[in-house]
Amino acid sequence: MYYFRGIIPVVMDKKQQMENIVGLAKRRGFIYPGSDIYGGLSGTWDFGPLGVQLKRNIMKLWWEMFVDQRDDMYGIDAAILMNQKVWQASGHVDTFTDPLVEDLETKQRFRADHLLKDAGHSVDGLSLEQMTQLIRDNDVKSPAGNDLSEVRTFNMMFKTTVGPVADDTSISYLRPETAQGIFTNYKNVLDSFYPDLPFGLAQQGKAFRNEISPRDFIFRSREFEQMEIEYFVNPTAWEESFEHWRQQVWKWTQALGLPDDMVHELEVPENDRAHYSKRTIDFEFDFPIGREELLGLAYRTDFDLQNIQRVSGKNMDYTVKGTNEKFVPHVIEPSFGVERALMAVLTAAYTEDEVNGETRTFLKLPEHLAPVRFAVSPLVRNKPELVAKAREVYAILKKKYGAVMWDDNGNIGKRYRRQDEIGTPYCVVIDFDTLETDGLVSIRSRDTTEQIRVDVNSL
Ligand code: ATP
Repeated sequence: MYYFRGIIPVVMDKKQQMENIVGLAKRRGFIYPGSDIYGGLSGTWDFGPLGVQLKRNIMKLWWEMFVDQRDDMYGIDAAILMNQKVWQASGHVDTFTDPLVEDLETKQRFRADHLLKDAGHSVDGLSLEQMTQLIRDNDVKSPAGNDLSEVRTFNMMFKTTVGPVADDTSISYLRPETAQGIFTNYKNVLDSFYPDLPFGLAQQGKAFRNEISPRDFIFRSREFEQMEIEYFVNPTAWEESFEHWRQQVWKWTQALGLPDDMVHELEVPENDRAHYSKRTIDFEFDFPIGREELLGLAYRTDFDLQNIQRVSGKNMDYTVKGTNEKFVPHVIEPSFGVERALMAVLTAAYTEDEVNGETRTFLKLPEHLAPVRFAVSPLVRNKPELVAKAREVYAILKKKYGAVMWDDNGNIGKRYRRQDEIGTPYCVVIDFDTLETDGLVSIRSRDTTEQIRVDVNSL
Protein backbone atom coordinates (compact mmCIF):
# COMPACT_ATOMS: atom_id res chain seq x y z
CA MET A 1 0.00 0.00 0.00
CA TYR A 2 1.21 3.51 -0.83
CA TYR A 3 1.08 6.15 1.85
CA PHE A 4 1.46 9.85 1.20
CA ARG A 5 4.73 11.32 2.33
CA GLY A 6 4.97 11.64 6.11
CA ILE A 7 1.52 10.06 6.71
CA ILE A 8 1.14 6.87 8.73
CA PRO A 9 -2.35 5.34 9.23
CA VAL A 10 -3.47 4.56 12.80
CA VAL A 11 -5.26 1.24 13.34
CA MET A 12 -8.20 1.36 15.79
CA ASP A 13 -10.36 -1.35 17.30
CA LYS A 14 -14.01 -1.30 16.18
CA LYS A 15 -15.48 -0.28 19.52
CA GLN A 16 -13.10 2.64 19.76
CA GLN A 17 -13.88 3.62 16.18
CA MET A 18 -17.62 3.67 16.91
CA GLU A 19 -17.12 5.82 20.02
CA ASN A 20 -14.89 8.20 18.08
CA ILE A 21 -17.43 8.56 15.26
CA VAL A 22 -20.30 9.24 17.69
CA GLY A 23 -18.13 11.77 19.55
CA LEU A 24 -17.03 13.55 16.39
CA ALA A 25 -20.60 13.60 15.04
CA LYS A 26 -21.81 15.39 18.16
CA ARG A 27 -18.86 17.71 18.70
CA ARG A 28 -18.64 18.93 15.12
CA GLY A 29 -22.37 19.38 14.46
CA PHE A 30 -23.30 16.32 12.42
CA ILE A 31 -25.67 14.39 14.69
CA TYR A 32 -26.97 15.16 18.20
CA PRO A 33 -29.03 12.87 20.46
CA GLY A 34 -32.72 13.87 20.12
CA SER A 35 -34.22 16.12 22.85
CA ASP A 36 -30.84 16.00 24.60
CA ILE A 37 -31.53 19.12 26.67
CA TYR A 38 -34.46 17.33 28.40
CA GLY A 39 -32.58 14.11 28.99
CA GLY A 40 -33.14 12.71 25.50
CA LEU A 41 -35.74 10.52 23.81
CA SER A 42 -34.44 7.05 23.07
CA GLY A 43 -34.14 6.16 19.39
CA THR A 44 -34.32 9.73 18.09
CA TRP A 45 -31.52 11.81 16.61
CA ASP A 46 -31.27 15.42 15.43
CA PHE A 47 -29.13 16.34 12.46
CA GLY A 48 -26.96 19.43 12.89
CA PRO A 49 -25.78 21.77 10.10
CA LEU A 50 -23.15 19.37 8.73
CA GLY A 51 -25.23 16.23 9.25
CA VAL A 52 -28.22 17.57 7.38
CA GLN A 53 -25.98 18.60 4.49
CA LEU A 54 -24.38 15.15 4.34
CA LYS A 55 -27.79 13.49 4.57
CA ARG A 56 -29.19 15.69 1.80
CA ASN A 57 -26.20 14.98 -0.40
CA ILE A 58 -26.84 11.24 0.02
CA MET A 59 -30.55 11.62 -0.73
CA LYS A 60 -29.87 13.90 -3.71
CA LEU A 61 -27.38 11.42 -5.14
CA TRP A 62 -29.98 8.66 -4.86
CA TRP A 63 -32.68 10.74 -6.53
CA GLU A 64 -30.33 11.70 -9.37
CA MET A 65 -29.22 8.08 -9.94
CA PHE A 66 -32.58 6.39 -9.66
CA VAL A 67 -35.13 9.00 -10.78
CA ASP A 68 -33.60 11.90 -12.74
CA GLN A 69 -31.20 9.86 -14.82
CA ARG A 70 -33.68 7.15 -15.80
CA ASP A 71 -36.70 7.26 -18.06
CA ASP A 72 -38.60 4.40 -16.40
CA MET A 73 -38.97 5.96 -12.94
CA TYR A 74 -41.57 8.27 -11.41
CA GLY A 75 -41.03 10.11 -8.14
CA ILE A 76 -43.81 10.54 -5.59
CA ASP A 77 -44.20 11.98 -2.09
CA ALA A 78 -47.15 10.42 -0.24
CA ALA A 79 -48.61 11.50 3.11
CA ILE A 80 -47.13 9.92 6.24
CA LEU A 81 -50.58 9.43 7.79
CA MET A 82 -52.70 7.00 5.82
CA ASN A 83 -56.10 5.37 6.11
CA GLN A 84 -55.88 2.47 8.61
CA LYS A 85 -57.11 0.12 5.88
CA VAL A 86 -53.69 0.47 4.23
CA TRP A 87 -52.05 -1.21 7.22
CA GLN A 88 -54.78 -3.81 7.61
CA ALA A 89 -54.53 -4.78 3.93
CA SER A 90 -50.72 -4.86 3.99
CA GLY A 91 -50.64 -7.18 7.00
CA HIS A 92 -48.80 -4.68 9.22
CA VAL A 93 -51.57 -4.50 11.86
CA ASP A 94 -51.37 -8.25 12.37
CA THR A 95 -47.78 -9.14 11.62
CA PHE A 96 -45.42 -6.15 11.87
CA THR A 97 -44.02 -7.41 15.14
CA ASP A 98 -40.74 -8.20 16.84
CA PRO A 99 -40.24 -10.82 19.60
CA LEU A 100 -40.15 -9.20 23.04
CA VAL A 101 -38.94 -10.44 26.45
CA GLU A 102 -39.06 -8.71 29.77
CA ASP A 103 -36.49 -8.67 32.58
CA LEU A 104 -38.63 -10.06 35.44
CA GLU A 105 -36.89 -7.84 38.04
CA THR A 106 -36.37 -4.47 36.33
CA LYS A 107 -39.30 -4.80 33.88
CA GLN A 108 -36.97 -3.58 31.13
CA ARG A 109 -37.83 -4.97 27.70
CA PHE A 110 -35.55 -6.43 25.06
CA ARG A 111 -35.60 -8.01 21.59
CA ALA A 112 -35.55 -11.75 22.35
CA ASP A 113 -33.74 -12.55 19.08
CA HIS A 114 -31.01 -10.00 19.89
CA LEU A 115 -30.42 -11.41 23.39
CA LEU A 116 -30.24 -14.94 21.99
CA LYS A 117 -27.87 -13.91 19.19
CA ASP A 118 -25.69 -12.02 21.66
CA ALA A 119 -25.54 -15.24 23.72
CA GLY A 120 -24.33 -17.14 20.63
CA HIS A 121 -27.56 -18.89 19.56
CA SER A 122 -29.01 -18.99 16.07
CA VAL A 123 -32.65 -17.85 15.94
CA ASP A 124 -33.28 -18.35 12.22
CA GLY A 125 -36.89 -19.32 11.62
CA LEU A 126 -37.69 -20.01 15.31
CA SER A 127 -41.24 -19.57 16.63
CA LEU A 128 -41.96 -17.61 19.84
CA GLU A 129 -42.35 -20.86 21.77
CA GLN A 130 -39.05 -22.19 20.44
CA MET A 131 -37.28 -18.95 21.45
CA THR A 132 -38.75 -19.19 24.96
CA GLN A 133 -37.56 -22.80 25.15
CA LEU A 134 -34.06 -21.83 23.95
CA ILE A 135 -33.90 -19.15 26.68
CA ARG A 136 -35.01 -21.66 29.36
CA ASP A 137 -32.74 -24.49 28.15
CA ASN A 138 -29.64 -22.27 28.07
CA ASP A 139 -30.50 -20.12 31.07
CA VAL A 140 -30.17 -16.92 29.01
CA LYS A 141 -30.45 -13.86 31.27
CA SER A 142 -31.16 -10.17 30.75
CA PRO A 143 -28.16 -7.79 30.43
CA ALA A 144 -28.64 -7.10 34.19
CA GLY A 145 -28.31 -10.84 34.86
CA ASN A 146 -31.99 -11.46 35.76
CA ASP A 147 -34.52 -14.08 34.62
CA LEU A 148 -36.59 -13.37 31.53
CA SER A 149 -40.31 -13.64 30.81
CA GLU A 150 -41.60 -15.80 27.97
CA VAL A 151 -41.28 -14.39 24.48
CA ARG A 152 -44.28 -12.58 22.99
CA THR A 153 -44.93 -10.36 20.01
CA PHE A 154 -44.82 -6.58 20.03
CA ASN A 155 -46.30 -4.49 17.19
CA MET A 156 -43.86 -1.79 16.16
CA MET A 157 -46.28 0.68 14.62
CA PHE A 158 -46.86 4.02 16.39
CA LYS A 159 -50.61 4.37 16.79
CA THR A 160 -52.39 7.71 16.78
CA THR A 161 -55.85 9.13 16.16
CA VAL A 162 -56.77 11.54 13.40
CA GLY A 163 -59.26 14.34 14.12
CA PRO A 164 -60.98 15.47 17.32
CA VAL A 165 -62.80 12.19 18.05
CA ALA A 166 -60.77 9.24 19.28
CA ASP A 167 -62.59 6.03 18.36
CA ASP A 168 -61.93 2.91 16.28
CA THR A 169 -62.59 4.69 13.01
CA SER A 170 -60.09 7.50 13.67
CA ILE A 171 -57.11 5.21 14.34
CA SER A 172 -54.09 5.77 12.13
CA TYR A 173 -50.40 4.93 12.31
CA LEU A 174 -47.16 6.73 11.57
CA ARG A 175 -46.02 4.77 8.52
CA PRO A 176 -43.44 2.08 9.34
CA GLU A 177 -42.26 2.01 5.70
CA THR A 178 -42.64 4.33 2.73
CA ALA A 179 -43.53 1.44 0.38
CA GLN A 180 -47.27 1.44 1.10
CA GLY A 181 -47.51 5.10 0.04
CA ILE A 182 -46.15 3.96 -3.31
CA PHE A 183 -48.51 1.01 -3.73
CA THR A 184 -51.56 3.15 -2.95
CA ASN A 185 -50.51 5.54 -5.74
CA TYR A 186 -49.71 2.88 -8.37
CA LYS A 187 -53.15 3.27 -9.98
CA ASN A 188 -52.96 7.09 -9.94
CA VAL A 189 -49.63 7.13 -11.77
CA LEU A 190 -50.84 4.45 -14.21
CA ASP A 191 -53.86 6.60 -15.10
CA SER A 192 -51.83 9.84 -15.40
CA PHE A 193 -48.82 8.56 -17.37
CA TYR A 194 -49.65 5.18 -19.06
CA PRO A 195 -46.08 3.91 -18.50
CA ASP A 196 -44.74 0.83 -20.27
CA LEU A 197 -43.65 -2.12 -18.10
CA PRO A 198 -41.27 -2.36 -16.42
CA PHE A 199 -41.51 0.97 -14.60
CA GLY A 200 -40.87 2.11 -11.07
CA LEU A 201 -42.13 4.53 -8.46
CA ALA A 202 -39.62 6.04 -6.07
CA GLN A 203 -40.11 7.80 -2.78
CA GLN A 204 -37.96 9.25 -0.01
CA GLY A 205 -39.30 10.09 3.41
CA LYS A 206 -39.66 9.45 7.10
CA ALA A 207 -40.62 6.08 8.54
CA PHE A 208 -41.34 5.28 12.18
CA ARG A 209 -40.88 2.05 14.10
CA ASN A 210 -41.34 1.65 17.81
CA GLU A 211 -38.18 -0.47 18.05
CA ILE A 212 -38.09 -2.45 21.32
CA SER A 213 -34.48 -1.51 21.95
CA PRO A 214 -33.05 1.16 19.66
CA ARG A 215 -29.27 0.91 19.69
CA ASP A 216 -25.99 1.40 17.90
CA PHE A 217 -26.20 5.14 17.22
CA ILE A 218 -28.42 5.91 14.20
CA PHE A 219 -28.34 2.28 13.01
CA ARG A 220 -31.57 1.34 14.78
CA SER A 221 -33.70 4.43 15.39
CA ARG A 222 -37.39 4.89 16.07
CA GLU A 223 -37.69 7.66 13.51
CA PHE A 224 -35.63 7.37 10.34
CA GLU A 225 -35.69 8.00 6.65
CA GLN A 226 -36.11 5.53 3.80
CA MET A 227 -35.58 5.69 0.06
CA GLU A 228 -37.69 3.03 -1.63
CA ILE A 229 -38.44 1.88 -5.14
CA GLU A 230 -41.29 -0.34 -6.20
CA TYR A 231 -40.42 -1.59 -9.67
CA PHE A 232 -43.44 -3.06 -11.48
CA VAL A 233 -42.69 -5.92 -13.84
CA ASN A 234 -44.34 -8.57 -15.96
CA PRO A 235 -44.48 -11.66 -13.68
CA THR A 236 -42.68 -13.69 -16.34
CA ALA A 237 -39.70 -11.29 -16.28
CA TRP A 238 -39.11 -10.74 -12.56
CA GLU A 239 -35.71 -12.45 -12.48
CA GLU A 240 -34.24 -10.12 -15.09
CA SER A 241 -35.35 -7.03 -13.15
CA PHE A 242 -34.17 -8.51 -9.86
CA GLU A 243 -30.71 -8.96 -11.38
CA HIS A 244 -30.83 -5.44 -12.82
CA TRP A 245 -31.50 -3.97 -9.36
CA ARG A 246 -28.85 -6.15 -7.76
CA GLN A 247 -26.32 -4.51 -10.08
CA GLN A 248 -27.80 -1.06 -9.40
CA VAL A 249 -27.37 -1.57 -5.66
CA TRP A 250 -23.66 -2.19 -6.19
CA LYS A 251 -23.45 1.01 -8.25
CA TRP A 252 -25.09 2.80 -5.33
CA THR A 253 -22.69 1.47 -2.68
CA GLN A 254 -19.78 2.44 -4.94
CA ALA A 255 -21.22 5.94 -5.46
CA LEU A 256 -21.30 6.25 -1.65
CA GLY A 257 -17.59 5.51 -1.62
CA LEU A 258 -18.03 2.21 0.26
CA PRO A 259 -15.23 -0.26 -0.52
CA ASP A 260 -16.63 -3.38 -2.29
CA ASP A 261 -14.95 -5.67 0.23
CA MET A 262 -16.97 -4.11 3.08
CA VAL A 263 -20.33 -4.81 1.36
CA HIS A 264 -21.75 -8.34 1.37
CA GLU A 265 -24.77 -9.99 -0.18
CA LEU A 266 -26.79 -12.28 2.07
CA GLU A 267 -29.28 -14.49 0.27
CA VAL A 268 -32.05 -14.66 2.89
CA PRO A 269 -33.29 -18.26 3.42
CA GLU A 270 -36.99 -18.94 2.91
CA ASN A 271 -37.97 -19.29 6.58
CA ASP A 272 -36.33 -15.95 7.36
CA ARG A 273 -37.91 -13.93 4.58
CA ALA A 274 -40.84 -11.55 5.08
CA HIS A 275 -44.13 -13.36 4.41
CA TYR A 276 -44.63 -11.55 1.07
CA SER A 277 -41.18 -12.21 -0.37
CA LYS A 278 -40.18 -15.00 -2.80
CA ARG A 279 -36.55 -13.87 -2.87
CA THR A 280 -34.60 -11.40 -0.72
CA ILE A 281 -31.00 -10.33 -0.71
CA ASP A 282 -29.87 -8.29 2.28
CA PHE A 283 -26.90 -6.11 1.48
CA GLU A 284 -24.79 -6.04 4.61
CA PHE A 285 -21.97 -3.72 5.54
CA ASP A 286 -19.04 -4.11 7.92
CA PHE A 287 -20.16 -1.48 10.43
CA PRO A 288 -18.02 -0.99 13.56
CA ILE A 289 -20.87 -2.80 15.41
CA GLY A 290 -20.39 -5.82 13.12
CA ARG A 291 -21.71 -7.02 9.78
CA GLU A 292 -25.30 -5.76 9.63
CA GLU A 293 -28.05 -4.93 7.12
CA LEU A 294 -27.45 -1.80 5.09
CA LEU A 295 -30.38 -2.21 2.67
CA GLY A 296 -32.67 -4.87 1.26
CA LEU A 297 -33.65 -6.10 -2.18
CA ALA A 298 -36.88 -8.12 -2.29
CA TYR A 299 -39.12 -9.76 -4.85
CA ARG A 300 -42.54 -8.89 -3.36
CA THR A 301 -44.58 -10.69 -6.06
CA ASP A 302 -48.08 -9.19 -6.50
CA PHE A 303 -48.73 -9.47 -2.75
CA ASP A 304 -49.38 -5.76 -2.12
CA LEU A 305 -51.38 -4.94 -5.24
CA GLN A 306 -53.55 -8.05 -4.75
CA ASN A 307 -54.24 -7.00 -1.16
CA ILE A 308 -55.18 -3.48 -2.24
CA GLN A 309 -57.45 -4.92 -4.94
CA ARG A 310 -59.14 -7.23 -2.42
CA VAL A 311 -59.67 -4.64 0.34
CA SER A 312 -60.42 -1.55 -1.80
CA GLY A 313 -62.43 -3.36 -4.46
CA LYS A 314 -60.51 -1.38 -7.13
CA ASN A 315 -58.96 -3.14 -10.11
CA MET A 316 -55.13 -3.16 -10.11
CA ASP A 317 -54.65 -4.71 -13.56
CA TYR A 318 -52.05 -3.44 -15.96
CA THR A 319 -53.13 -3.57 -19.61
CA VAL A 320 -50.35 -4.25 -22.12
CA LYS A 321 -50.50 -1.77 -24.99
CA GLY A 322 -51.21 -3.43 -28.32
CA THR A 323 -52.16 -6.91 -27.06
CA ASN A 324 -54.60 -5.77 -24.32
CA GLU A 325 -53.27 -8.59 -22.13
CA LYS A 326 -54.17 -7.85 -18.48
CA PHE A 327 -52.46 -8.87 -15.23
CA VAL A 328 -51.53 -7.52 -11.83
CA PRO A 329 -47.82 -6.63 -12.11
CA HIS A 330 -45.24 -8.14 -9.79
CA VAL A 331 -42.80 -6.01 -7.83
CA ILE A 332 -39.05 -5.81 -7.22
CA GLU A 333 -38.30 -3.62 -4.22
CA PRO A 334 -34.89 -2.14 -3.43
CA SER A 335 -35.29 -0.54 -0.01
CA PHE A 336 -32.59 1.84 1.23
CA GLY A 337 -32.22 3.37 4.70
CA VAL A 338 -30.74 6.87 4.79
CA GLU A 339 -29.31 6.64 8.33
CA ARG A 340 -27.63 3.30 7.63
CA ALA A 341 -26.16 4.71 4.40
CA LEU A 342 -24.90 7.71 6.37
CA MET A 343 -23.42 5.52 9.10
CA ALA A 344 -21.69 3.37 6.47
CA VAL A 345 -20.31 6.50 4.77
CA LEU A 346 -18.96 7.79 8.11
CA THR A 347 -17.47 4.37 8.90
CA ALA A 348 -15.69 4.14 5.54
CA ALA A 349 -14.52 7.75 5.80
CA TYR A 350 -13.35 7.88 9.42
CA THR A 351 -9.56 7.84 9.44
CA GLU A 352 -6.87 8.50 11.97
CA ASP A 353 -3.28 8.95 10.90
CA GLU A 354 -0.04 10.49 11.93
CA VAL A 355 1.21 13.41 9.90
CA ASN A 356 4.83 14.23 10.60
CA GLY A 357 4.57 12.80 14.09
CA GLU A 358 1.23 14.44 14.96
CA THR A 359 -2.03 12.49 15.19
CA ARG A 360 -4.91 13.77 13.12
CA THR A 361 -8.51 12.63 12.60
CA PHE A 362 -10.12 13.11 9.26
CA LEU A 363 -13.16 12.10 7.25
CA LYS A 364 -12.16 10.85 3.83
CA LEU A 365 -15.59 11.61 2.38
CA PRO A 366 -16.11 11.42 -1.38
CA GLU A 367 -16.06 15.00 -2.71
CA HIS A 368 -19.66 14.85 -3.95
CA LEU A 369 -20.89 13.96 -0.43
CA ALA A 370 -18.73 16.25 1.72
CA PRO A 371 -20.92 18.78 3.59
CA VAL A 372 -18.30 21.48 2.94
CA ARG A 373 -16.60 21.40 -0.48
CA PHE A 374 -14.11 24.21 0.15
CA ALA A 375 -13.00 26.19 3.18
CA VAL A 376 -11.64 29.63 2.35
CA SER A 377 -9.44 31.76 4.56
CA PRO A 378 -6.94 34.60 4.54
CA LEU A 379 -3.52 33.51 5.87
CA VAL A 380 -3.93 35.96 8.74
CA ARG A 381 -7.04 37.88 9.68
CA ASN A 382 -5.56 41.22 10.71
CA LYS A 383 -4.53 42.30 7.20
CA PRO A 384 -7.54 43.98 5.57
CA GLU A 385 -6.21 43.60 2.01
CA LEU A 386 -5.78 39.81 2.51
CA VAL A 387 -9.25 39.52 4.04
CA ALA A 388 -10.80 41.50 1.17
CA LYS A 389 -9.19 39.27 -1.45
CA ALA A 390 -10.18 36.13 0.45
CA ARG A 391 -13.78 37.37 0.66
CA GLU A 392 -13.73 37.84 -3.10
CA VAL A 393 -12.54 34.27 -3.67
CA TYR A 394 -15.08 33.00 -1.11
CA ALA A 395 -17.92 34.77 -2.97
CA ILE A 396 -16.91 33.22 -6.31
CA LEU A 397 -16.75 29.68 -4.87
CA LYS A 398 -19.88 30.14 -2.77
CA LYS A 399 -21.87 31.15 -5.84
CA LYS A 400 -20.58 28.16 -7.77
CA TYR A 401 -20.77 25.42 -5.09
CA GLY A 402 -22.96 26.67 -2.24
CA ALA A 403 -21.34 24.39 0.33
CA VAL A 404 -18.32 26.61 1.00
CA MET A 405 -17.21 27.68 4.47
CA TRP A 406 -15.43 30.86 5.60
CA ASP A 407 -12.91 29.90 8.26
CA ASP A 408 -10.46 32.41 9.69
CA ASN A 409 -10.31 31.16 13.30
CA GLY A 410 -7.00 30.28 14.89
CA ASN A 411 -3.78 29.65 13.03
CA ILE A 412 -3.65 27.93 9.67
CA GLY A 413 -2.58 24.56 11.12
CA LYS A 414 -5.62 24.51 13.43
CA ARG A 415 -7.92 25.42 10.55
CA TYR A 416 -6.60 22.50 8.50
CA ARG A 417 -7.18 20.09 11.39
CA ARG A 418 -10.72 21.38 11.90
CA GLN A 419 -11.56 21.07 8.22
CA ASP A 420 -9.96 17.60 8.02
CA GLU A 421 -12.22 16.48 10.86
CA ILE A 422 -15.40 17.44 8.99
CA GLY A 423 -14.14 16.01 5.71
CA THR A 424 -13.60 19.20 3.70
CA PRO A 425 -11.64 18.05 0.63
CA TYR A 426 -9.87 21.38 -0.02
CA CYS A 427 -8.77 24.43 1.94
CA VAL A 428 -8.12 27.55 -0.10
CA VAL A 429 -5.75 30.10 1.45
CA ILE A 430 -5.07 33.64 0.28
CA ASP A 431 -1.59 34.83 1.27
CA PHE A 432 0.78 37.69 0.49
CA ASP A 433 1.99 36.02 -2.71
CA THR A 434 -1.60 36.10 -3.96
CA LEU A 435 -1.62 39.87 -3.62
CA GLU A 436 1.94 40.72 -4.45
CA THR A 437 3.33 38.25 -6.96
CA ASP A 438 1.28 35.64 -8.78
CA GLY A 439 -2.42 36.30 -8.04
CA LEU A 440 -2.69 32.54 -7.40
CA VAL A 441 -4.25 30.96 -4.31
CA SER A 442 -2.88 28.08 -2.32
CA ILE A 443 -5.04 24.96 -2.22
CA ARG A 444 -4.36 22.23 0.28
CA SER A 445 -5.65 18.67 -0.12
CA ARG A 446 -7.22 16.86 2.85
CA ASP A 447 -6.00 13.43 1.79
CA THR A 448 -2.37 14.20 0.97
CA THR A 449 -1.97 17.38 3.09
CA GLU A 450 -0.04 18.73 0.07
CA GLN A 451 -0.45 22.26 -1.23
CA ILE A 452 -0.34 23.62 -4.74
CA ARG A 453 -0.89 27.11 -6.13
CA VAL A 454 -3.71 27.56 -8.63
CA ASP A 455 -5.80 30.18 -10.39
CA VAL A 456 -9.15 30.60 -8.56
CA ASN A 457 -11.02 30.27 -11.85
CA SER A 458 -9.60 26.77 -12.35
CA LEU A 459 -11.16 25.42 -9.14
P1 ATP B 1 -33.63 -4.93 10.63
O1 ATP B 1 -33.72 -6.41 10.38
O2 ATP B 1 -32.21 -4.43 10.78
O3 ATP B 1 -34.55 -4.45 11.72
P2 ATP B 1 -35.50 -4.68 8.54
O4 ATP B 1 -35.21 -5.93 7.76
O5 ATP B 1 -36.66 -4.65 9.45
O6 ATP B 1 -34.16 -4.23 9.30
P3 ATP B 1 -36.61 -3.35 6.31
O7 ATP B 1 -37.99 -3.49 6.80
O8 ATP B 1 -36.15 -4.23 5.19
O9 ATP B 1 -35.58 -3.49 7.53
O10 ATP B 1 -36.36 -1.81 5.98
C1 ATP B 1 -35.60 -1.38 4.85
C2 ATP B 1 -34.42 -0.56 5.28
O11 ATP B 1 -34.82 0.50 6.16
C3 ATP B 1 -33.35 -1.31 6.05
O12 ATP B 1 -32.48 -2.00 5.18
C4 ATP B 1 -32.65 -0.20 6.77
O13 ATP B 1 -31.72 0.44 5.91
C5 ATP B 1 -33.77 0.77 7.08
N1 ATP B 1 -34.24 0.59 8.46
C6 ATP B 1 -35.13 -0.30 8.91
N2 ATP B 1 -35.35 -0.17 10.23
C7 ATP B 1 -34.56 0.85 10.63
C8 ATP B 1 -34.33 1.50 11.90
N3 ATP B 1 -34.98 1.12 12.99
N4 ATP B 1 -33.45 2.52 11.93
C9 ATP B 1 -32.79 2.92 10.83
N5 ATP B 1 -32.97 2.36 9.62
C10 ATP B 1 -33.85 1.34 9.51
